Amino acid sequence: MANPSSQAASGYSTSANSAEGFDVLVVGGGAAGLYSALCLPAHFRVALVTKDNLTISASDWAQGGIAAAIAPDDSPQLHVADTLRAGAGLCEPDAVKLLVEEARTCIEALLDLGVAFDRSNQQLAMTLEAAHSRKRVLHAADTTGHAIVSTLAQQVLKRKNIQVFSQTFVLDLWVDDEICRGVCLSRSQLENQPEKEPLTSPQIQWVPARAVVLATGGGGQVFSQTTNPAASTGDGVAMAWRAGAQVRDLEFFQFHPTALSKPGAPRFLISEAVRGEGAHLLDNQGDRFVFDYHSDGELAPRDVVSRAIFLHLQKEEVPGNRVWLDLSSIDPERIRYRFPNIIRVCKHWGIDLFTEPIPVTPAAHYWMGGITCDLHSQTTIAHLYAVGENASTGVHGANRLASNSLLECLVYGAQLKHIQLASQLAVVPSGIAHALSLSDDWLKALTYWRSQLPQLIWQNAGICRQQSLLDEARAQVSQWQRQFDDLSISQALRLKPGQTVELPDRITGNHIRLWGEVRNLLAIAALILKSAAFRSESRGGHYRRDYPTTDDQWLSHTVVKGDNVTRAASSNLIVDNRLIPNF
Ligand SMILES: Cc1cc2nc3c(=O)[nH]c(=O)nc-3n(C[C@H](O)[C@H](O)[C@H](O)COP(=O)(O)OP(=O)(O)OC[C@H]3O[C@@H](n4cnc5c(N)ncnc54)[C@H](O)[C@@H]3O)c2cc1C
Repeated sequence: MANPSSQAASGYSTSANSAEGFDVLVVGGGAAGLYSALCLPAHFRVALVTKDNLTISASDWAQGGIAAAIAPDDSPQLHVADTLRAGAGLCEPDAVKLLVEEARTCIEALLDLGVAFDRSNQQLAMTLEAAHSRKRVLHAADTTGHAIVSTLAQQVLKRKNIQVFSQTFVLDLWVDDEICRGVCLSRSQLENQPEKEPLTSPQIQWVPARAVVLATGGGGQVFSQTTNPAASTGDGVAMAWRAGAQVRDLEFFQFHPTALSKPGAPRFLISEAVRGEGAHLLDNQGDRFVFDYHSDGELAPRDVVSRAIFLHLQKEEVPGNRVWLDLSSIDPERIRYRFPNIIRVCKHWGIDLFTEPIPVTPAAHYWMGGITCDLHSQTTIAHLYAVGENASTGVHGANRLASNSLLECLVYGAQLKHIQLASQLAVVPSGIAHALSLSDDWLKALTYWRSQLPQLIWQNAGICRQQSLLDEARAQVSQWQRQFDDLSISQALRLKPGQTVELPDRITGNHIRLWGEVRNLLAIAALILKSAAFRSESRGGHYRRDYPTTDDQWLSHTVVKGDNVTRAASSNLIVDNRLIPNF
């Protein structure tokens, strides 16, 4: 069955030693990782690894909801058509078809597991979001992601065949001859063994697995303005690329138009559902200016609305000009019912959204590109799978339709029922543990890049891009990468399978994580810049000032493998809804 397996757990001991290995090792505890782990056959011995605790992920932050064409006036065909239109010609039709056709099964599975979606007169309540032609977004107030993830996490923790490792950072994949054999990780604590003391200093281990699933989420932290949590550092994409997997369409980043813009506040997302319920975007003059850029106004696709804000603010050239989201046209009772969390967060930052508009700004939100996968979530490396935001299944094309991403985590997690395990576990080569001798330069350098790199990428490869700025950033990032490689800590942590390193007491798990995240952020920054410079047109989430139009010659994916960037044919020849596949 496509749903989380309900077979009795097979009785594996949760205290098994991770060095013995696993049938499947899932990296990530968001919606994709949790649902994938639950959908694997219950007789598999599974490890689920997260770098924070199970409660922290972008999935947990998802507000608006999850799309599913299950209302009587809706159909999978309409959902396909909307998804393809948003994807601006680069969606893979078979992948989209699977996504929308499996939606009902996945929603039923969530209901069976106990996810309490909002209801209206006993029926599941649905709302409208931008670029959807029907009300098809299911929600649980404005904390839909939390409702889903907490339910899935409870199920995972109940399963005896799944061992959860939290505060555990996966540094790299272990790949030999294009076959994935396991991972290298830095581990501080075992969640399923509360009786054990957390390990104080990190241990670096090679853990064999007969298959690995990457579910590490997005990479919004590569931009200084982002709605993503701190953990979204593109680790899965960077690791897969380093291991030789093909990655695809990395230039396509969705910028959400409405993140809270208040000095000192994080870029908290003001869900699109707020505009779906009727909120207006206003400039300082009180004009609904988005209609000057698109006939759908506030409900135009996200990239259009984000660019409208960006360009409008530049055009106005009024110092201090701002953009506001005004909820005064929505019934206050409706606001209280639908957006309790947004009310709470705005209040915390001194905004009473019942009496004043919310100051908003665009921010990096969702990465459409990722690790190339087929319909079974298989990457181009044997026994390596990718699910969720770090995967490129082709369902989002050049721009994601709102609320399709949680759905993708579930539908493509369920495809792991087809997972192919290696015939046997690899034996970890007996490695040499060498002592780490460190000069003091590394921490300052890592901290500097962690703060400066996102500023650079936001300024040079954000909402509006152009060749000169992309080239400038590429030169800077390559220089930082060379300096990173020369650090004493980088040389010590460049390990071959089986090799470990004895860490001095002053090195904590957080230091290893910082090193790993900066390495991954530099890698994905370079990949985004390379892909954005390669695509000399504008499409979906990728806008070039120097090539402002969409060019049919570019109806192809950007694929990167190693240092090579090339085009790969898209099986989709749809331009702005002119051709929609029959099914
Ligand atoms: C504020 C916000 C609101 C959103 N609202 C919606 C919405 O309403 N509807 C919708 O469909 N989508 C929404 N999205 C997008 C959606 O939430 C994400 O695309 C989706 O949740 C991604 O799920 P995931 O499981 O792939 O990754 P995540 O949920 O980000 O989980 C990633 C996991 O990987 C782990 N991890 C990462 N790297 C490592 C490593 N190196 N080692 C070990 N563990 C690692 C992390 O600890 C985490 O557990 C929203 C996103 C944001 C940020």
